[in-house]
Amino acid sequence: MEKLLERFLRYVKIDTESVPGVEQIPSTKKQFDLANLLVEELKEIGLEEVTIDENCYVMATLPSNVDKEVPTIGFVAHVDTTPDLTGKNVNPQVWENYDGEDIVLNKEKGIVLSTEEFPEIKQYVGQTIVTTDGTTLLGADDKAGVAEIMTAMDYLVKNPEIKHGKIRICFTPDEEVGKGADLFDVDKFGAEWAYTMDGGPMGEFEYENFNAAYAEVTFRGQNVHPGTAKGKMVNSMNIAAKFATKFPDSETPETTEKYEGFYHLLTMTGSVEESKLQYIIRDHDRTIFEARKDHMKALVGTFRNEYGMNSVELNMVDQYYNMKEKVEPNMHIVDLALDAMKALDIEPDVKAIRGGTDGARLSFMGLPCPNIFAGGHNMHARYEYVPVPTMKAATKVIVKIAELVATK
Ligand SMILES: [Zn+2]
Repeated sequence: MEKLLERFLRYVKIDTESVPGVEQIPSTKKQFDLANLLVEELKEIGLEEVTIDENCYVMATLPSNVDKEVPTIGFVAHVDTTPDLTGKNVNPQVWENYDGEDIVLNKEKGIVLSTEEFPEIKQYVGQTIVTTDGTTLLGADDKAGVAEIMTAMDYLVKNPEIKHGKIRICFTPDEEVGKGADLFDVDKFGAEWAYTMDGGPMGEFEYENFNAAYAEVTFRGQNVHPGTAKGKMVNSMNIAAKFATKFPDSETPETTEKYEGFYHLLTMTGSVEESKLQYIIRDHDRTIFEARKDHMKALVGTFRNEYGMNSVELNMVDQYYNMKEKVEPNMHIVDLALDAMKALDIEPDVKAIRGGTDGARLSFMGLPCPNIFAGGHNMHARYEYVPVPTMKAATKVIVKIAELVATK
């Protein structure tokens, strides 16, 4: 495990920022810089069937070391970092024996990780913490996950007395731009289930996420000189504005939490002739999710009745679904991870994600895939940091899961 921090520091220095709106995968060639390095390291560690494809998916196998039949399981992490903040020239700073005070990330620029703003950092007093230098993100999301999986595999190879079945690992590109699951070859991976190592603090575990749809509503009007518009002009912006008021104030992102769903008006654009509203619809409950979509359709119907059939057009598509649907029939997947944590005296913190994950998409592609903590805080920001003991704990969870699958 001593190599965990060293690996992590090495990986975060490699720029792997992904960019949205690019058709090909990976969206940026530089993601290969880390992926190719991982291929070499996996071979060095002694893993088998180490492959990388033209889309930057790295796969490898740790063969079983038991005689009996044991389910093949997998661990997944992503190599890219978010385009929200630059991941170039990441200069990680290691703070040993953290004293619980504000951390001056960058003296020159006056950038401080303040305990007032981020009080949860105080729980890590006495620990080793890795931060940025204030000018970039850190990339613990998800290079912490990558380093943990690598270190766990290394550890299992070096400690053959720990019994385990066949383990597959995969490092994916483009997770941060929502495309990490797109070209994931589930058949080639060949695991019965897997875990993404891509979450926050110690104990975090997630197997529920939103059901998600996107809706675009187009309103058509008619422009006439305003001086002679009486009875003729139809202003699409006024119709769109009326439409936007037909959703409850209590069902927006800014008024909901936990298991409460919402309608979120993303953008409104318009002219007299044509206006557009873009929404996302979210709910953990599939039935309520469908009811929300029905509400959107019914509203469009009402407006058509009032303003004419061609006045309003709805384009609505489902984006992803709650992985709970696929995980719940196989609750041993959840139990195994929680048992592993408990065996290590880690208190599980089971949460529902208010968003989606690659694991959710993979679950619907036939690979049930809950998410386990990787340790990062303040992801996608210059204040991102990771406590090293949490990364160590996540590494141990991987090892323990491997062990429990083979010995239970
Ligand atoms: Zn991530």
